Amino acid sequence: MGSKKFTAGPNTSIAECPKCKNNTEFVARSEQVMEDGCEIWIVCKCGYDPTAEKTGSRMEDVWGSLGKGEILCALDCTWNEPILEQFPIA
Ligand SMILES: [Zn+2]
Repeated sequence: MGSKKFTAGPNTSIAECPKCKNNTEFVARSEQVMEDGCEIWIVCKCGYDPTAEKTGSRMEDVWGSLGKGEILCALDCTWNEPILEQFPIA
């Protein structure tokens, strides 16, 4: 539960934020959405949340802990995927 700031090194694997072009500083968020399950998703340091309008694409997790493994998975499915869907690489 809660949120955790994290910083990635210079990289080409994380999609740029469509708003501020950042791809290194994020906040991982975790929220309990049902009795036995949480959702984890990634928000940019500027507040941009690619899953804001489709929370169904957030990552489901029983415990909602924000370890390295969960954050890496969430980066893929709740950051990269929704951004690349909306802003395909030309
Ligand atoms: Zn941003």
